This record gives sequence, structure tokens and C-alpha cells, in this order.
Amino acid sequence: MSYQPQPQDQAFLLFTVLRAHETLAQLAAFEAVDAPLMAQVMDEAGKFVAQRVAPLNRSGDEVGAQFAQGSVTMPPGFAQTYQDFWQAGWAALSSAPEDGGQGLPEVLNQVLHEWLSAANHGWTMAPGLLHGAYECLKHHASPEVQAQYLEKVGTGQWLATMCLTEPQAGSDLGLCRTKAVSLADGSYGLSGTKIFISGGEHDLSENIVHLVLARIEGAPPGPKGLSLFVTAKYLPGGSRSSAVCERIEEKMGIHGSPTCVMRFDGTPAQLVGEAGKGLAAMFVMMNAARLHVALQGIGLLDAAWQKADAYARERRQMRVAGAPPASRSAGESADIIIEHPAVRRILDTQRAWVDGLRVLAYQTALALDVARHSPEPAQQEKAQRWCSLLTPILKAVATDQGFRGASDCLQVFGGHGYVREWGVEQIVRDARIAMIYEGTNEIQAVDLLVRKVLGDGGMALQALLAQVADEALGNSASATAWQQRRQALWQSTEQLLAAAPHAPELPHWIASDYLRACALLLLQSAWLQVQNALPQLAPAAQSRWQAGAKAFEHWVLPEFDMRLALIAEQIRQASAPKAEHAALV
Ligand SMILES: Cc1cc2nc3c(=O)[nH]c(=O)nc-3n(C[C@H](O)[C@H](O)[C@H](O)COP(=O)(O)OP(=O)(O)OC[C@H]3O[C@@H](n4cnc5c(N)ncnc54)[C@H](O)[C@@H]3O)c2cc1C
Repeated sequence: MSYQPQPQDQAFLLFTVLRAHETLAQLAAFEAVDAPLMAQVMDEAGKFVAQRVAPLNRSGDEVGAQFAQGSVTMPPGFAQTYQDFWQAGWAALSSAPEDGGQGLPEVLNQVLHEWLSAANHGWTMAPGLLHGAYECLKHHASPEVQAQYLEKVGTGQWLATMCLTEPQAGSDLGLCRTKAVSLADGSYGLSGTKIFISGGEHDLSENIVHLVLARIEGAPPGPKGLSLFVTAKYLPGGSRSSAVCERIEEKMGIHGSPTCVMRFDGTPAQLVGEAGKGLAAMFVMMNAARLHVALQGIGLLDAAWQKADAYARERRQMRVAGAPPASRSAGESADIIIEHPAVRRILDTQRAWVDGLRVLAYQTALALDVARHSPEPAQQEKAQRWCSLLTPILKAVATDQGFRGASDCLQVFGGHGYVREWGVEQIVRDARIAMIYEGTNEIQAVDLLVRKVLGDGGMALQALLAQVADEALGNSASATAWQQRRQALWQSTEQLLAAAPHAPELPHWIASDYLRACALLLLQSAWLQVQNALPQLAPAAQSRWQAGAKAFEHWVLPEFDMRLALIAEQIRQASAPKAEHAALV
């Protein structure tokens, strides 16, 4: 069974829970975009994903990208499907109309990419970087460079890469050594080796654009000496550049995505943005990509859940304890395994994660639309604050759960999940990388706590939680419980603010706990929003969401207290007088 998008789920979350069409209607750029149009786009997108992309998933894994003499041949069907994808306008869904795009909201693009990743993560890696590259060129490239690249990237006619990582420079990009030599005509020659470059070489598109982080000769060491450059496999004049793929990696998953070692050898390139501001320019691309990566986690978890749910409704083992379930049939000596509480718990818990995370991710995509298109500075600022705090939280939590939850879904199959036949082991392998690339999840946690929370005395987080309380929650008992948790998180934050100046290591020990506590509090608000909207659904359609809400309350949310307890103990130890601290160690 290949992945089947369920657009009615997205329609409920977008139009009933989040009222996305009302937010978008306030933006002049989306005057013509109403709920029926959005629903129609999602229906068509769902068909393309189910009919064209999902069926290539298994063969993409088994055949994989093949390297020979500097060229990469993609698995059968990948190239034709990509051609049909961009020519039908799917790659350009949220690019601006003046760049050949559809001009639709980013939130629709994110839904599309969630489904694409769920259906075929390997294939989706290539178009997954396009939108970030487009935004980066749109915001930072000169008009001359834009004239050469923007429309080709904006439409997806040319695919793009993000060339950051080097053998000695992973999380610490300040260690990059790729060199840029200034040439007489104002362009640069790039020399160096980049590793782990997704889609560095392939046969999906007629050209491949590379955005490369490099150091101009004489620039200072560290991150401040880095600049961003654009070059391509075929240069704007049509000649083949000296950017070559030396080999591709053998790896655990996403076999349909070539992970390339790229060598640049005096390769002609143009500066994007200001010299020395390369990391800032690249962050436009990375932030767009990080939300995409969060949606990879959500999509892959949904894909694993779909398989596990279907299997659990067929497989019979043992009788359940207690009253006979309605599904028991006289001729069968065992019940379907979904009736066993242990199996039901796994499945409902994963739904709690998928649906709660979807609310937060779509809300973040909507905030991106507001940040880009609202004429009101106050609205823009609020939206940017939301994106800045939610992006690391979603990237880390959604990808952690994408992998761990997919592994739990594999458990539903018993031994049948561990063998290839059912395809769930591929999802577990494919999901693992999302915890690592686009900034590891440890780096996301440090970004959230050290830079974004402690960095401004907790002001932005406090304002964001006040916004959630004002806009999203009703007056139910659950809303009161949410307020109590909010207070508890704030108390922890104040203690960290007081302790960190004397214990610089402290925030780094507990950054992941802090990120998870924030995520769980926000997920609780997401589930409260879903519950407030449920009466608008027909009674029969409510039960699946109610099961998710209950599982969230019972099996997911209790982790919040555990995370705060871990943080409190570390603060206590860091603040203890030296003698007591030594005794504790
Ligand atoms: C399949 C695949 C595709 C990729 N695609 C691309 C791509 O398209 N473009 C690109 O440029 N790169 C790409 N990457 C590279 C990826 O972004 C890096 O692997 C990642 O940023 C981590 O760098 P590293 O592997 O060097 O690990 P390191 O940076 O060496 O990290 C090792 C460990 O130390 C931890 N760590 C390091 N510093 C800190 C810190 N300050 N605080 C806490 N923990 C820390 C990390 O979290 C990690 O657990 C890809 C990698 C893979 C495997």
C-alpha cells in the first residue's frame, strides 16, 4: 500500500481549526484565494502525490541513485515525474507570479511537501530545496543575478542545491575553507570540496544551480568571513562549469536522493548579497528548509501510521482481555490486534503527534505568509516572532517523533515490520536523516534556548505564549491547566535566566529538555484548538480526533512535568555551593 494523502484532514485543520482562509483574506497578495480554491488545489495535489510520486517509493529505495563517471542516473520514473511535476506548476506553487510562479500561499506549499515526503522522501529531496533557494535569490541576489537564475529556480525548471558542509565543517560552518578568488570582471572563482550535498548531480532537470558558502581570499576566519555565491552545472552562457560530483555516499536511507561530494575548481560564480554576510543570506534558505524538514518528520510518521493502522485492522492474534469487541466474529478464534490496548495506544499516540504537529506547522506556514505579505509592521513582527521560535521547535520535535514514532509503528507489525515486504522498515530508515541535516536537533535546541530565549531575557517567548492564550484558547478546564503549565515553564525560564550567567554550561546540558517542554505546551494548545473546533464536525467524523486528543492527554503530555523536573535538578546542582556540588558529582 503506497501513501494516500487525506485532504479532508488538512481541510478540517486549515479551515475549521485555524481558519487559514480568514487570515489569508486579509493579505492583498491572496485576495483571490478562498477556502474552495485551496481545497481544490489540495485535492489535485493529493492526486499527483498518490498517482505519480508514491508508486516510485519502493523502487527508488531498491534501485537508488547510481553514480558513474561523474554522472548520476536517478531511479526509473524519477526524471519523467519531476518533469511533469514542475511543468504542471507544482514546483512553483508559492513562487511569485512575476517569477513564473502560481502566487499561492506558502501554507499550501508546505502541505504539498508534507505529502510528497510521506509518499517518497528520496524523490522529494530534490524539489525540497527549491523554495529556499528561490527565496534566498529573491531576497539577496542582484538584479543581474536574478535575471539569470530567479525564474528558472522559481518555476523549478532548474533544481538547486545548498552547498555548506565540508569534511571539517558541519555544525560549525565557520570552519569552511572553500575559497573564492576575485576575478577582473567582478565575478569569483570557487575552489574547494563540499560533502553531503543533496542533489549535487542528477538527471532530473536540465541544469542544477548551486548556492555555495565560501571565503573570499583575505577574509577573516570564522563565520564573519563567509560569503554566499551562486554557480551552476551549466553556466548562464551555456558552457559546462567545472563543478563536478566526485562520488555519492552509500547510506542508511533516502536511496533515491544522491548525497554528493562536490568539487569546485576555479568554478566561475557570482556573489549573492554582501561579502561577509553569507551566513545571514544562507539562513533565508535554511529557515525555509527547516520547516520543510519538520514536515518530512510529520509526513513520514503519517505514512508509517497509515501502514500500521491498516495492518492492525487485518492481523488477528489472541483474544483481548475484558468485554468482547464489536469487531469479534464468531468464526475467528483471535481478535484483530487493533483491539489490544497496547497496539491501540501506539496508534493513537502517533495520531496525537501527527495531528498536533500539523496544527503548529500549518500555523507557522501561515505566519510565513503573513510575515511576507502583511503591510502592517506589528503583524509582521508578531508573525516573524512566531516563525523564529517555532522553527527550531518543530524541526527538532517533529523529526525526533518522525523516526521514533515510525519505529513504534513498525512494532505494530511484529516481525513482519522488520522484513521488507510491508515497506515500514524503509520509512524508519528514511526518517532518521531528518534529525541530523538542516542543523542537528541538538543545534536546534541550543538555538532556541541560548540564542532565542535566554538571548532576549525570555521576552519573545513570553509574548508568544500570551498570544496563544489570547487567540487560541477558550475557558475550559483544560485551558486552565494550560495556563498552569505556562506558569511552570516561565518559572523554569526565570530560574535559568538567573543561573546561566554563573553557569555557562548549564543551558547546554538541558537545552533539549527545554525545547521539548516548549513543544509539549504548544502541542497542548494545538489540541485545545482542535477540541474547540470538533463540534463543527459531524459526530461520526469526530471520534478519530477525540482518540488523538485523549492519547495526547494520557501518553504524551505527562512528559512535560518530567522535562521541567530534569531542568530543575540541573539548575539546583549548578547553583549548589561548591562543596555540595562536588559531593553530588
Ligand atoms: C543524507 C544527508 C544529506 C545532507 N544534505 C546536505 C546538503 O544538501 N547540503 C549541506 O550543506 N549539507 C548536507 N548535509 C550535511 C548535514 O547538514 C550535516 O551532516 C549536519 O549539519 C551535521 O554536521 P556533521 O555531520 O559534520 O556533524 P557534526 O557537526 O560533527 O556533529 C556531530 C555531533 O555533535 C553535535 N554537536 C556539534 N556541535 C554541537 C554544539 N555546539 N552543541 C551541541 N551539540 C553539538 C551534533 O549535534 C552531532 O550530534 C547532509 C547530510 C546527510 C547525511
